[in-house]
Amino acid sequence: MHVQAAEIISVGTELLLGEIVDTNAPWLARELRDHGVPVFHKAVVGDNRGRLREAIALALGRSDLVIIGGGLGPTDDDLTREAIADALGETPQIDGRLLARLEELFRSRGRPMPAINRKQAWLIPSAEPLDNPIGTAYGWFVRWRGRSVVALPGPPHELQRMWREQVLPRLPRGQAGFWHQTLHTLGIGEGSVGEMLADFTNQRNPSVATYARRHGVDVRVAASAPDAEAARQAAAPVLAEVERRLAPFIWGRDEETIGLVLGRALSARQQTVAVAESFTGGLVADTLTDTPGASAWFRGGMIAYSPAAKIALGVPAALIERHGVVSEEVAGALATAVRARFETDWGLATTGVAGPAPLEGHPPGTTLVAVAGPDGLVVRRLGWPGERRQVKERATNGLLMLFLRRLRGDRQA
Ligand code: AMP
Ligand code: MG
Repeated sequence: MHVQAAEIISVGTELLLGEIVDTNAPWLARELRDHGVPVFHKAVVGDNRGRLREAIALALGRSDLVIIGGGLGPTDDDLTREAIADALGETPQIDGRLLARLEELFRSRGRPMPAINRKQAWLIPSAEPLDNPIGTAYGWFVRWRGRSVVALPGPPHELQRMWREQVLPRLPRGQAGFWHQTLHTLGIGEGSVGEMLADFTNQRNPSVATYARRHGVDVRVAASAPDAEAARQAAAPVLAEVERRLAPFIWGRDEETIGLVLGRALSARQQTVAVAESFTGGLVADTLTDTPGASAWFRGGMIAYSPAAKIALGVPAALIERHGVVSEEVAGALATAVRARFETDWGLATTGVAGPAPLEGHPPGTTLVAVAGPDGLVVRRLGWPGERRQVKERATNGLLMLFLRRLRGDRQA
């Protein structure tokens, strides 16, 4: 049986008041999308038993999978268990096995279990408990009149882990045949991508959609068909054409990060890299070291923020005096110096103006990135206005894309 329609309910007064941003519902929506399960409704409900019961009853009237995040804590305002029981007309009871495990958990931490935690060991007849390996709130997987209600604790790391480990294996499949892939691009605006793909973005199946993200423009190709293999085949020619048109700008796909893609290319060549960062303040190194296994190819770097720090790294003082720190010359000298100091195959560097004030007469957003490598030095001037963080992120991404294009041997790089 397939899930026809799923619905997500996020529970918590703090979400309603805007004190906490609901990140669980978008995360769950992406998961459901990736499993071909259509989502038609999302809701946020405060910690109120009656309104939560209403929301669950409404959801069950139109969706065959209802996923509830939050409200499984031990306190009086955690009312998800009560509301599900109310909506289904069932009565919660303490489950002896769950209670014993909960008491054992507290014992192992050397603490007595408060009486209010007992309701975390509740079950209703239709509910199967979902283990929580990192908290005291069990989840519920409820099967009721051909529909399913899933209740998960609100803390995102608990919800995500339980979703993957406990819920997905129990879930009926989504659409019979659904296939999708997202291409990540950088260095081209959404408008230009849209123009280049206009003949595709108007069609529905296979569908092509663009999304402007912080790390560039994403292009998602999706298709549905009677089975997954047929969907993949239907999407294949469209995907190939999209890839052909956007080739110089594509840096990765789906879960890949630019650090991962760069790391793979460097590992394959057994090469190493070091970074000298001025106005990105360590963001390039941070981005690269987010990649598991980065130690195989990332050797280190220096945040050469002040002129003195640049000179200490090996940039000639005279060069700074003559050209200023926001210059092609200094960007190139930083990359060359860090490559020599760290004895790496590649040296990367940034310098520029994060803003909001201009520097050396250059407007905020002025960005210079440099890649020094075995085959010489390349420096690029980039520039986008924006607030500080945005400018730093774009400079980081622009530098890493330039680096990737050089590693790939792209002609323009
Ligand atoms: P609860 O399971 O309702 O006790 O939620 C515990 C904590 O999880 C809340 O205080 C929030 O910090 C977090 N949380 C709950 N729901 C969400 C949500 N939808 N998105 C992000 N964080 C959440
Ligand atoms: Mg709550």
